[in-house]
Amino acid sequence: MEPIFVWWIGERAPEEAVMAQVRRRLADAFGRQALPWEAPARPHGTLDPARRQHASGTMLRWLLEAGPAEGKVLGVTDQDLFIPILTYVFGEAQLGGKAAVCSTARLAEGVELVGRGLLAERLAKEAVHEVGHAFGLHHCDTPACVMGRSAGLRGVDEKSHLLCNVCRQRLHQPPARRVP
Ligand SMILES: [Zn+2]
Ligand SMILES: [Zn+2]
Repeated sequence: MEPIFVWWIGERAPEEAVMAQVRRRLADAFGRQALPWEAPARPHGTLDPARRQHASGTMLRWLLEAGPAEGKVLGVTDQDLFIPILTYVFGEAQLGGKAAVCSTARLAEGVELVGRGLLAERLAKEAVHEVGHAFGLHHCDTPACVMGRSAGLRGVDEKSHLLCNVCRQRLHQPPARRVP
């Protein structure tokens, strides 16, 4: 099975314990290896100067060009991400594609009170959610499923880090065949 590569593409240095937690959760959720991808390249051409945020769609295209040839790639950044219709996003992925990205920029609120473990857990949930999209999973209404839509941090904190049974089954279904 092709691995999931997790690539720190932020500006500051990564927090190794946080990244290790992300890889653990991904490996558990998708039943395959989640490995660090360590290349010095960093995204360019993603900054919107007026918004002072980075376009997540452009970041996905950059990940496809610059990242590993095989498997899935999750870019993790500390830069704030947006898509044109929203103020910000925690992350974005190509549905059924190869690349996903998520950001720690909006996940740190309250962390100084509770500790870095909270940031790791939030980031891991967002990582599993976005990589779930890359494996073709849509949003899910099962309570606590990690594929649930989360509006804001409270939504992230309320859901679990796990795929529900329905999502897990979908993950293992072969792609739908066309009936002539
Ligand atoms: Zn989503
Ligand atoms: Zn689900």
